Amino acid sequence: MMNNTPKIAVFAGSFDPITVGHSDIIWRALPIFERIVIAVGTNSQKKYRFDLDQRLAFIQATFAGEPIIETATYTGLTIQFCRSIGAQYLLRGLRTSADFEFERTIAQLNKQLAPEIETIFLCSLPQYSHISSTIVREVLANGGDISPFVPPAVGGMIE
Ligand code: ADP
Repeated sequence: MMNNTPKIAVFAGSFDPITVGHSDIIWRALPIFERIVIAVGTNSQKKYRFDLDQRLAFIQATFAGEPIIETATYTGLTIQFCRSIGAQYLLRGLRTSADFEFERTIAQLNKQLAPEIETIFLCSLPQYSHISSTIVREVLANGGDISPFVPPAVGGMIE
């Protein structure tokens, strides 16, 4: 069946901060979708290392000049955000079997809540499977060099 509806994917997270693991998944997904919306979730209960404007600025600097990639913020259920912008896909990265178990639960739940939305997984590159926002914050808190773990544009923005 022909279907010319643009394929819109949401890549959701808190991105506190965005890492090379996140950006790699997004770069690799570029040929698959017409639009990728990087959606920064905001939770008033949660304490972030970087405020929302900084987290958005890091993402925008990483993907500056990429017309397919947009940023947005949202609160509440990710599937509700997807519906509000007409996104048919949720993009996720898989690092480890622990990620798989967690992601499988969320994907199955989302499928039950929103059958029209498909979750698409890409496996992380092996050299990124140990990288998380949490370890970046840990290295930063202890005065280490975070530049290997964040996109080049972000390295210069965090000192
Ligand atoms: P948050 O930014 O809220 O911590 P996560 O980083 O846990 O969110 O998750 C956002 C998405 O990015 C998830 O699909 C997660 O599996 C993926 N992801 C996170 N780190 C990496 C990595 N190093 N390589 C590949 N995918 C990753």
